[in-house]
Amino acid sequence: MPLDSGFFDSEHEAFRSVVRQFVDREVAGHLDDWDERGIIDRGTWLSAGKHGLLGFAVPAELGGGGTDDYRFRCVLAEELAAAGAASLNSSFALQDDVFLPYLLRLGTPEQHRRWLPGLCAGELIGATAMTEPSAGSDLQGIKTTARPDGTDWILNGSKTFITNGIHSDLVIVVARTGDGGGKEPGPPPFGLFVVERGNAGFERGRKLRKIGLQAQDTAELFFTDVRVPAENVLGDPGRGFVHLMENLPRERLSIAVTSLAAATSALSWTADYVRERHAFGKPLAAQQTIQFTIAEIATEVDVTRSYVHAAVRAINDRRLTAVDAAKAKWWATELHKRTVDRCLQLFGGYGYMAEYPIARAYVDARIQTIYGGANEIMKILIARDVLGKFS
Ligand SMILES: Cc1cc2nc3c(=O)[nH]c(=O)nc-3n(C[C@H](O)[C@H](O)[C@H](O)COP(=O)(O)OP(=O)(O)OC[C@H]3O[C@@H](n4cnc5c(N)ncnc54)[C@H](O)[C@@H]3O)c2cc1C
Repeated sequence: MPLDSGFFDSEHEAFRSVVRQFVDREVAGHLDDWDERGIIDRGTWLSAGKHGLLGFAVPAELGGGGTDDYRFRCVLAEELAAAGAASLNSSFALQDDVFLPYLLRLGTPEQHRRWLPGLCAGELIGATAMTEPSAGSDLQGIKTTARPDGTDWILNGSKTFITNGIHSDLVIVVARTGDGGGKEPGPPPFGLFVVERGNAGFERGRKLRKIGLQAQDTAELFFTDVRVPAENVLGDPGRGFVHLMENLPRERLSIAVTSLAAATSALSWTADYVRERHAFGKPLAAQQTIQFTIAEIATEVDVTRSYVHAAVRAINDRRLTAVDAAKAKWWATELHKRTVDRCLQLFGGYGYMAEYPIARAYVDARIQTIYGGANEIMKILIARDVLGKFS
């Protein structure tokens, strides 16, 4: 029994049964088809909405789960990882852990009524567009602009690598609203603008081809004189950078939780495999070198679980700091990458065959150390916390 065995209670386990039903009926048989087409069916989103898997933190009267308990999101991540459904998990996580927190924190009551019920039902899909061809880690390089025109704003620019880019009905676009005058220290003013499917001047580019997360629709987005009414502005259009910073701990914890879940599943598949697979007249599991590898992986995963679960408790208590989330993100994602690599090795040639879940897990893992703030950026934040002005 893991040291942290009291982490989930009976409510989470009851929810786990609901998620398993969803996975059995709506996910397990579709993974290859989604990967081949490079997109997940919209019907899966609707079914997820019906099963109560979207919008945990949204008030119940607006269609959500009405809970801030992040452990429900952990259960979902664990069950999707066990099914090898990393693309679906990444798309759902983008909606629940990145898109919705902005809307919940910054949205007006009218915006909440207009969008939250559809997002919880899976009828509306959200995307968050920060990255541009020349601005990824360094968001201060964003070139997309929003120019005021009466009470409206006019958006021009382009974004790339946007998760849910093809499916999205609502896109939070980060755009520059001024040049800062070159006088004030700190980032120039940015705003967050909700662009809707069908808005004139909003076009989607290519569905990007990737090495992993094949079914997650990642796309380029283009904005040419897109008119955004005042009702679609989120928060203060001069303080977008601050708004972005406020949500980073949750986004990074979400990635850490996903990585922990994926590493746990990889270990479980591999332990089963080495018990079954024979070489030199005995199961692989009877070889001491293999036992040692499994022991090392199991220990690393459990130690990581302790830290990530402490971070989950902290976010539930509203005390997760940006630095602690950065530590969880870089540590868990590096562990994830290392674990799937070592596990795949124990599968031998079969691990390289696409039909084995460990093969898909291997390529899906690679992005974890890059998006949501690359791990080098996590280390800059952590070093700054430890060393202060020296970093
Ligand atoms: C599948 C996928 C989905 C994505 N989804 C979204 C999304 O939904 N919305 C969105 O806005 N973005 C999204 N992204 C973009 C992602 O967040 C960026 O790719 C990431 O932030 C890195 O930015 P970059 O690619 O421009 O790399 P760069 O910023 O060019 O960095 C390249 C390398 O240099 C390192 N580096 C950069 N600066 C420093 C420094 N000061 N010191 C040391 N090393 C440094 C980086 O860590 C990295 O290793 C997605 C990307 C992918 C691949």
